[in-house]
Formats: sequence, C-alpha cells, structure tokens
Amino acid sequence: MRRVAFIGLGNMGRPMAAALARAGVETRGIDLNASLVKAAAEDGVIAASSLRDAIGGAEVAITMLQSGDQTLAVWSEIAPEARGKLLIDCSTIDVESARGAHRLAQANGALSVDAPVSGGVAGAKAATLTFMCGGEAAAFAAAQPVLEHMGAHVLHCGDAGMGQAAKICNNLMLGVTMIATAEAFVLAERLGLSHRALFEAASISSGQSWSLTSYCPAPELVPTSPANNDYRPGFMSALMLKDLRLAQEAAARAGAASPLGAAATQLYALHQAAGQGGADFSSIIKLIRGEPSERGQS
Ligand code: NAD
Repeated sequence: MRRVAFIGLGNMGRPMAAALARAGVETRGIDLNASLVKAAAEDGVIAASSLRDAIGGAEVAITMLQSGDQTLAVWSEIAPEARGKLLIDCSTIDVESARGAHRLAQANGALSVDAPVSGGVAGAKAATLTFMCGGEAAAFAAAQPVLEHMGAHVLHCGDAGMGQAAKICNNLMLGVTMIATAEAFVLAERLGLSHRALFEAASISSGQSWSLTSYCPAPELVPTSPANNDYRPGFMSALMLKDLRLAQEAAARAGAASPLGAAATQLYALHQAAGQGGADFSSIIKLIRGEPSERGQS
C-alpha cells in the first residue's frame, strides 16, 4: 500500500494521519476546516483539494468523522471512485449507519471495514490505538497492515458493524465504571477515608478497573489522569454521552436490558447541561459531589 486518503483531521484524525506519514505512507488529508489541513501539513500530510483529489491514486481511504450521517455523506461521495479500493471508517457511529456504509462500498466494488478505536488522543499520538474491526475476512486482512501503523492492537470482531458493536459495548462499561468509581471516592470523602487509602486498597482488590488505575477521577493518584490537569480532555463528556446514547439506541433495537447504561446516559446528560460537555468525562465526579455548576454560579 503506497497511498492513503485521510478524511477528517480533527483531534483524532490529525495524529492518526501523522502516524501514517511517519511510517512512510504517502498520506493525503482533507477536512472541512482548512486550518486543520494546514496544521496536518506540518506532520507530513499532503493537503488534498477535494474528496476526489484525496482518493484519486490512493489504494485506501480512511474516514475519522463525528457521526453516522457524516460517514454516510462522505462515503456516498467517495464510493463511486473506490472500485477495487479499501474504505475504512474509524469514527464511532451507530451500527445501522456502519452497515449502510458497508452496503455503499459493496455496491461500488470496494472492500470495507468499520474500525472504531479506543485509546484517545494520547493513543493516537503514540500510535498505540486499539482498532475494533467489522467486515469480511478479506477486507480485514487488507486493513490490518494499514491500521498497524496507527495502533498496537487490531482486532477482527466479526462481520459488518461488529467493530462498532464492540466499541459501544466497551464504552458502556467505561461510562458505568467511571461513575461507580467517582461515587466511591465521594463516599470515601464523606466517611473521612483518604483518596490515597481507597486507591491503594481498591487497586489491588475487587473494585479494580481501568477507570480506577489508569484514569482515576480523583487527582494525584495516577500520573496521566486528567484529574491532575483540571479535567482537561482526554475524552470529552460530550463524546461519552454520544457513545452511551448509541449503546442505549442499540439496546432498544436489540431488546437488551441496559438499566445502568440508561442511568449513566442521564447523568452525563445532566453533566453536559451543567456546562461540562467539554470537560474530560472523569469530571463526572463533580456532579456526584454536588459541586455547583459553572452555569449555576453567579
Ligand atoms: P473532531 O470533531 O475533532 O474531528 C472530526 C473532523 O471531521 C472535524 O475536524 C470535521 O471538520 C471533519 N469533517 C466532518 N465532516 C467532514 C467532511 N464532509 N469532509 C471532511 N472533513 C469532515 O472529532 P474527534 O475527537 O477527532 O473524533 C472523531 C471520531 O472518533 C468520533 O466519532 C469520536 O466519537 C471518535 N473517538 C474520539 C476519541 C477522542 O478521545 N477524541 C476517542 C475514541 C473515539
């Protein structure tokens, strides 16, 4: 694979495209925001003038966008130019839209993979993302070496849409465990138990989780935790809310019970309404603690 088109150079897309360029892959990037295209050029990503310009001559096109509607809009434009090529969508979107994108590719003779990621901006910068992939075996085999330039783990989760299914199930667990961890730290505060004592006990006991030991919502316990940095993201509360809503929609469609996911969705909706959508999702501890919201202060 010699040339890749990269569409969507935002918080995640820019460092992912940069990782491809670093690996020696000719990477043509495009974004609706021209300043992001300019910034990506500093990382060795060649500016494309249009979607057609980006995909012309490329064997692979990667999209990293915000929503299913955006993926379907872009794939509707690029699929007719994609016969014999491979299309990869790394955005986190709903399973139905992902399947619609696969159908567009198939109808135009292209291979396709849904490949949402875990690992955040830090993982994108370090090229250590986990990719959860859905699609035919041949499409996955073609995508794997491309994705390995940007990630540490590239997993085949099943057929079309199953990468998205794995991602929203993972983030359902993450949202719920983060809230549970925050509740435990606030309870400890009320009981007079220090943050450090709870951390040391729970991190080697059955309360252990990634939310506790890699991303603790209380400060000064995990060096890389956004709690040490005034809850600057990281992974924004608004994006966690989006992913929890995707999980709730999927659960409703599939007839699966998701009572804690429903509660987590409502708590993140309240947190967003309190003006915290742009803060890291571990800042949910402020809501649990009952700290006054920025909007509530006079
Ligand atoms: P972002 O908003 O920073 O980037 C998306 C980019 O897509 C924007 O720059 C936008 O201008 C561009 N775009 C939209 N429509 C376009 C079009 N038609 N043509 C060209 N460019 C277009 O978002 P992000 O934080 O990079 O997240 C991207 C996806 O990755 C989301 O689905 C998100 O849920 C998922 N994700 C994000 C994180 C994270 O930590 N930020 C972690 C895992 C997964």
